[in-house]
Amino acid sequence: MSATLEQAPATAAEDAVNMTDGFHLVIDALKHNDIDTIFGLVGIPITDLARLAQAEGMRFIGFRHEQHAGNAAAIAGYMTQKPGICLTVSAPGFLNGLTALANATTNCFPMILISGSSEREIVDLQQGDYEEMDQLNAAKPYAKAAYRINKAEDIGIGIARAIRAAVSGRPGGVYLDLPAQLLSQTMDAERGRKSLVRVVDPVPRQIPAPEAVQRALDLIQGAKRPLILLGKGAAYAQADAAIRAFVEKTGIPYLPMSMAKGLLPDNHAQSASAARSYVLAEADVVVLIGARLNWLLSHGKGKTWGGPKQFVQIDIAPTEIDSNVAIAAPVIGDIGSCVSALLAGIDANFGKPGIEWTRAIAERKDKNLTKMAATLAQDPSPMNYHSALRAIRDVLKTRPDINVVNEGANALDFTRSIVDMYQPRKRFDSGTWGIMGIGMGYSIGAAVVSGLPVVAIEGDSAFGFSGMEVETICRYQLPVVTVIFNNNGVYKGCDPNLNPRLKNDVAVTAFVKGARYDKMMEAFGGTGYHVTTPAQMTKALTEAIAAGKPALINAVIDEAAGAESGRLINLNPKKGALKK
Ligand code: ADP
Ligand code: MG
Repeated sequence: MSATLEQAPATAAEDAVNMTDGFHLVIDALKHNDIDTIFGLVGIPITDLARLAQAEGMRFIGFRHEQHAGNAAAIAGYMTQKPGICLTVSAPGFLNGLTALANATTNCFPMILISGSSEREIVDLQQGDYEEMDQLNAAKPYAKAAYRINKAEDIGIGIARAIRAAVSGRPGGVYLDLPAQLLSQTMDAERGRKSLVRVVDPVPRQIPAPEAVQRALDLIQGAKRPLILLGKGAAYAQADAAIRAFVEKTGIPYLPMSMAKGLLPDNHAQSASAARSYVLAEADVVVLIGARLNWLLSHGKGKTWGGPKQFVQIDIAPTEIDSNVAIAAPVIGDIGSCVSALLAGIDANFGKPGIEWTRAIAERKDKNLTKMAATLAQDPSPMNYHSALRAIRDVLKTRPDINVVNEGANALDFTRSIVDMYQPRKRFDSGTWGIMGIGMGYSIGAAVVSGLPVVAIEGDSAFGFSGMEVETICRYQLPVVTVIFNNNGVYKGCDPNLNPRLKNDVAVTAFVKGARYDKMMEAFGGTGYHVTTPAQMTKALTEAIAAGKPALINAVIDEAAGAESGRLINLNPKKGALKK
């Protein structure tokens, strides 16, 4: 070498100052787009990525299983309109996260699943790498979009693309594949900085066509028995004031879908929840706002829907229109813009629904509410869903800011109808798939994003899917109070094995009797409560919420309370000739 001292190449240390790598670029690109939290679970090859995120001021919440990290990211996306980020290792970690990604896509929640992956050359030739899997192609059918970044200089554009795909139009889950070798690729730091992309207007307004708005207004105005149906798309849109003004100015009765509860307070005079079957059957024009006519609405047809009706449907996704039944007046655009456009067309001449319709609804509501009040007032021993939920309802009424997570079969059905919500985007539940397993993931996500307490109301079976995450709740000292309706089993725990020949075999619906889930919480330093009466429930829940610390209430209810499959009994195929 002939270089003089002055011309000596930069030392390794000097080189490092001017260089960056894939690890840094991923974190820089996320931060550049105001993403401040990652939910995940570390391992090869992403442990250092998580460490770096923390070092760079991001919040990393580490889970015990990727599905729950993914669910936390998904609910964070729903609450904020920013994609929630879930970070996992390759193959099995990725697949665990994929369940959550698919659920997010199904529910229209924006999230990005970022997974490390093994060496492409080996994976593609199927030569048997550590955790070998073609993750990109596995993710595609379950995601709104799926991308892989192969070069460090593409990290900026790759992350921008993932963010835009997740939140624009109909939101959904995006998969982003990061091969291990990408993370250690180096490039000039200045060039790296310039390669970052800040997404401009990631959730653009989409203004509806004026003629579509007029068509909808004409149909609504001509209705005798109009009804508004609010879905979780309406809650997601954060157009709360416009939606409330539309409901109140038109005077039309409305029904909230489960996660739209609280968009208007459940005690609003125009809520028709307590007369649900009646209004669905009797309405002649139904205005769907961010709600799909899927199984949750009996596909818009059949007995539930009674006589003929016409639909107005407001949705951002044009292909949602006519998915199940013909839609007379589609209004395509973002809910805020669409509802504002409808509002602008409602003047002093707008005729409110006739008194016959509103009085008939009020009568049904009164009757059903009186009946429900009588059921809730009973105090059976052992306590049942109703008496326990009466206690929970009364405590939650004093704290409308609290987030409620809810899953189970009967625990879901009863809580939805008994526990009122008063603020938007405070109820997170089984959603579009009607699944179990979202409980602790959604609770952690909601607590982290809102900084407010969470009360998770869980069936004992539902809790089992994510129960280990109580350690995560304790580790981060999150204000999550989990209430478990413990009836010793799936649906209920008292079914004997019906076949005498198999009487020594455990029934397929049974759990260990008298399980003490409260001790599980205590094992990690949280507070456990064991309650058997509504009075104990009131005391425990009040105390736990006030403490703002991890707590679990094991609520022992009547083993015989609860119906098989809850209210979805019709979805369970009937046994045929083979009874035994
Ligand atoms: P629910 O289960 O409460 O009935 P769904 O998930 O079935 O609600 O429906 C939500 C609908 O809202 C989806 O069709 C989705 O395309 C739509 N949507 C989501 N966000 C927006 C938005 N910002 N503007 C308009 N429509 C939206
Ligand atoms: Mg149970």
